[in-house]
Amino acid sequence: MSPDRKDTHITPLHGAGGELMGELLERLILPRFGKEAVGRIGLDALDDGATIALPEGETGELVLTTDSHVVKPIFFPGGDIGRLAAAGTINDLAVMGARPIALTLAAIIEEGFPIPDLERIIESFAAALEEVDAPVVCGDTKVMPAGDVDGIVLNTTGLGIARHAISDAGLRPGDRVLLTGSIGDHGMALLAAREEFSLSTRLESDVAPIWPMFAPLLESDICEAIHAMKDPTRGGLAAALNEMARKSSTCIEIEETRIPMRSAARGLSELLGISPLEVANEGKAVVIVAPEAAEAALRVLREHPLGADAAIVGTVTEEYPTRVILDTEVGGRRFLDMPLGDPVPRIC
Ligand code: MG
Repeated sequence: MSPDRKDTHITPLHGAGGELMGELLERLILPRFGKEAVGRIGLDALDDGATIALPEGETGELVLTTDSHVVKPIFFPGGDIGRLAAAGTINDLAVMGARPIALTLAAIIEEGFPIPDLERIIESFAAALEEVDAPVVCGDTKVMPAGDVDGIVLNTTGLGIARHAISDAGLRPGDRVLLTGSIGDHGMALLAAREEFSLSTRLESDVAPIWPMFAPLLESDICEAIHAMKDPTRGGLAAALNEMARKSSTCIEIEETRIPMRSAARGLSELLGISPLEVANEGKAVVIVAPEAAEAALRVLREHPLGADAAIVGTVTEEYPTRVILDTEVGGRRFLDMPLGDPVPRIC
């Protein structure tokens, strides 16, 4: 190894708890996250843990979630693993009705990983957190020998606070099904970017933290009328709807023509023979609302750029409990089944 390789590439010492790891933290992490303590002991204390002061006067429930990110490629059209790790965790909090108050970031990095790439990923993670004004309070770095891990894996835990946490099982017959925007963008953009296809497309991943779109909705009276929410990630819209129908023993009926979809996503799905309803989305949510509040909820969502294409796409019924029905474009009617899994591995 050349003497200065440690300045440009990750070496085993960067994860070994000594000088080199300290330097990496000083250079990459602390300037971006260190100043935002939400408790007495924050990230810059580099203690064994961080403390989080409960927001003053706030009542409600703390919500905790965790996620690991193994996406391939690490940099993809519309985002990268850093933005994805932030959005993935923040969105799980958001669909439970929780405002993010603190996150953790753990990185498992392959020896030889370029430090400029790591810097770009950290930068992107930090930028996504700025969109929701939430800090990283603690983290971890491990280095694995070359070949033992593919590039980089990120794990993020998020702590949020909700007035009243919203589950994904509260559907009631008569409720309306809202989608906050176009379906299939992340999965299809990633597929197109994979080496085996390397298709040129204008389609970009929708990866984004959706809390800012939800905040006005959850802080309004409409909040009471929201019966369930879920982010359609792995397995896409089909998996999310089936899970919700099963958990609540209701039937969800969706009108295919109302599902917002970009023409590029539709085109790619036809070319590759993969349903856009079965691939991951990383900046969208399914919102189940009482019928009398559906139009009002739609208006609030559409006021935010992330919800500009929001639409009411279906209704909760009692017809076939635990099943999802799709009214198709050609006038047919069929079950939309739970996919076996996401057709695209390492999508998030
Ligand atoms: Mg989720």
